[in-house]
Amino acid sequence: MKNVGIIVNEGICDGCCECLRACTSNNISMVYSFELGHPIPCVAHDCSGCGECVRVCENREVLKAQSM
Ligand code: SF4
Ligand code: SF4
Repeated sequence: MKNVGIIVNEGICDGCCECLRACTSNNISMVYSFELGHPIPCVAHDCSGCGECVRVCENREVLKAQSM
């Protein structure tokens, strides 16, 4: 399943909220992280894994670079 959970898990989310706007099925809610000092996306169980939220995330390039 591909969603922004991987961005959060890698610690490269900056809280821009673009993924929230991209998920047309409303499976993302933003939750404030006191540890990080900004909101992070929380993905609901109904997520289809369409990957749209990852596609719009500007930090996905960091993810790609890390996996190379
Ligand atoms: S689009 Fe990426 S950086 Fe922005 S809130 Fe979502 S996961 Fe975080
Ligand atoms: S993968 Fe698709 S359904 Fe799941 S949170 Fe991202 S945009 Fe929403």
